[in-house]
Amino acid sequence: MKLLNKRAIVTGGTRGIGRAIVSELANNGCSVVFTYFSSEDSAKNLEKELSTETVKVLGFKADASSFSAAEETVKYALDKLGGVDILVNNAGITKDTLLLRMSESDFDSVINSNLKSVFNYTKAILKPMLGQRFGKIINISSVVGIIGNAGQANYVASKAGVIGFTKSNAKELSSRNINVNAVAPGFIETDMTDKLNEQQKEAILANVPLKRLGKPEDVAKAVLFLSSADSDYITGQVLTVDGGMVM
Ligand code: NAP
Repeated sequence: MKLLNKRAIVTGGTRGIGRAIVSELANNGCSVVFTYFSSEDSAKNLEKELSTETVKVLGFKADASSFSAAEETVKYALDKLGGVDILVNNAGITKDTLLLRMSESDFDSVINSNLKSVFNYTKAILKPMLGQRFGKIINISSVVGIIGNAGQANYVASKAGVIGFTKSNAKELSSRNINVNAVAPGFIETDMTDKLNEQQKEAILANVPLKRLGKPEDVAKAVLFLSSADSDYITGQVLTVDGGMVM
């Protein structure tokens, strides 16, 4: 129980990596408000699956790209949990295509869902966290935000932006005992990577020294570490969880 009596917000908690993060935090004693966009049934199931007498797990429908929805989420979490110690900015989407075919809306929607969302939630939680002089903020980036990827210029720009935003906030908020770090997953088996065909997966695996794709739980364990007191002297870092792909 590394997070006994802590309270967290996790964006995009219904599926894939976000769902594994919500489970990992809750199983370690942390109450969680998680957001979702469309998966209402999964949200209800997750609440039922993880709530206990001492741990509250509550879904909240909120578009991460909307600033006012972020403010409403924070208000809801403060009301239901009595405070927020941990923020995990996980919600994200892809709209992959070559630059020549990429529309303005392909670019804007990915930047808004993946990067502006991180601004929205960080800004919305800032005053309560500054006031309590404690906080752990973990932003989910991606290894492609470090090395780039053809056909993902919008996504890569958003994930590289998340890394810059993380480092600036780590410097700005350290005096108030708020740690800000990023996790950069490699290829993790979720709905997002389900679209890849076998040939593409083989090509990816050829560059993964540990010779397997990642599981959502692999990322969730890194988030648990960065949420807990075990990482109190770590801030402004990007922890890759990628089987050794980028080193
Ligand atoms: P996923 O399986 O597609 O799940 C995405 C989650 O984000 C869902 O819970 C979805 O909610 C939520 N979401 C999407 N847009 C949202 C919005 N505008 N507002 C609120 N919630 C929203 O994705 P994943 O693979 O778990 O990815 C999670 C994060 O890890 C993303 O930031 C992604 O970029 C990053 N990542 C993933 C990989 C990978 O290989 N999978 C690698 C590197 C980084 P609904 O269910 O309600 O739609």
